[in-house]
Amino acid sequence: MAERFDVVVIGAGPGGFRAARRCAQRGASTAVVEKEYVGGTCLNWGCIPSKTLLASAHLLLRARHASDMGIEIPSATPNWAKIQQRREAIITGIRKGMQGTMKANKMTHIEGRAVVTAPGRIRVQSNGQTRDLEAGKIILATGSESIELRSIPFDGQTVISSKEALSLPQIPRSMLIVGGGVIGCEMACAYTAFGTKVTIVEALERLLPMEDSWVSRILERELKTLGIEAVTGRKVMSVDKNTSPAKVNLDNGQAIEAEKVLVAVGRRAAIDKETVDALKLEMNGPLIKINRKLETNVPGVYALGDVVGTTYLAHGATAEAEVAAANATGNNEEMQDYALIPRVVFTFPEVASVGKTEEKCQAAGMDIAIGKGFYRANGRPIAENETNGQFHAVRDKSINELVGISMVGHMATEFAAFARTLLGTVEPVRRITFPHPTTSETLEDAVHEALGELLLEEC
Ligand code: FAD
Repeated sequence: MAERFDVVVIGAGPGGFRAARRCAQRGASTAVVEKEYVGGTCLNWGCIPSKTLLASAHLLLRARHASDMGIEIPSATPNWAKIQQRREAIITGIRKGMQGTMKANKMTHIEGRAVVTAPGRIRVQSNGQTRDLEAGKIILATGSESIELRSIPFDGQTVISSKEALSLPQIPRSMLIVGGGVIGCEMACAYTAFGTKVTIVEALERLLPMEDSWVSRILERELKTLGIEAVTGRKVMSVDKNTSPAKVNLDNGQAIEAEKVLVAVGRRAAIDKETVDALKLEMNGPLIKINRKLETNVPGVYALGDVVGTTYLAHGATAEAEVAAANATGNNEEMQDYALIPRVVFTFPEVASVGKTEEKCQAAGMDIAIGKGFYRANGRPIAENETNGQFHAVRDKSINELVGISMVGHMATEFAAFARTLLGTVEPVRRITFPHPTTSETLEDAVHEALGELLLEEC
């Protein structure tokens, strides 16, 4: 006999977990099926472990520069075993918290691999046992996995993905990172602080190519100061593993030695072919096709998060989860403009942006005004000895509204949600008092310069 639920969510990453929680809170009997660990990529192999490593790495760098602030620390070195234990403990602790949340919200957690066998029917397999479920609505939140390069396949030892890079048995002497996007740049910052000689090879002309070039310029300069070498406009062709360290061959004939080769060239949606076939799901390449309501082509089946490839961000997945859960429980909601979901990179310094970038506005022929704020002109970042930061605000002159904010600097990611609230009308900006001295005054400087005389006009 199949167990019956109003909603069955497949995948308990940030997207699936949020969707299941919201459905349960709205009174639907809800099951969430997970084949590995609750928290998905984000908690177990993504956001949280990477930020844990970066936090230790940043503290190490601060300790090494403590003398600049009058504090003498004779030596600061990483204890890798402790760093790894802390990473594991943090993940386990958050997982426990999620178990508690599921219980408190009366969500049914089912362990196992779920396959949709027909509309409304799901088969879960775990340790040779099979459990059949029936669902009024199905939410697919099965996430993604690292893209493998055919020319240098993963071997888990020398050629690795971010998953292995987060839990290496020891700090490697050298690492070549293929890909200068978010994950590549974050891992480069962590490992260079721990003492690894890091080289990034990026096929495009600059690091973080999705952001404005001024952002990439600052980041490239700061990464160089940290000792990271960035080779841009070049491709990795092969890895010769017969030597130790391995020899990484680039398309210009250059060979770079590296103990580890981390391939961080993006993520690919992960969805079982059986589910796709059984539902006759309409796909867009490897991605499940959805509309603004997160509906697939199959009535009653929704999809969200990395498996639909809209943002590849945990908070993008949870934003979609809110909409999918609302719709799966009888409401009628649509996704907001995806550009309003903040983008964050936890490098040293951090990068964050929301809305339209300067260059995208220019490419679209928009008439814009730019306002800039600088960390070096504000008391708090100067006191903190973190002066390498710059915020830019973009105003669309045709509507006199802020349409984008891009930020580089220490803790810039913490301002991303706040920056989002400033997009739109002039009115809220006028009413905000930015506390002094705080780094947020850099945002005030940028926004006020972008709005200029508009702030002086009558409301
Ligand atoms: P996932 O988190 O991938 O979860 C999907 C879940 O579904 C998995 O647990 C999987 O086991 C399960 N599953 C799959 N198939 C089945 C099945 N058939 N049956 C049962 N269960 C199944 N994003 C940020 O916003 N901020 C960051 O700082 C950040 N850092 C990152 C760092 C790294 C190294 C990586 C790799 C990613 C990072 N991300 C970050 C991206 C973020 O992790 C993902 O965007 C997010 O996890 C996507 O959530 P999701 O719910 O769609 O999928």
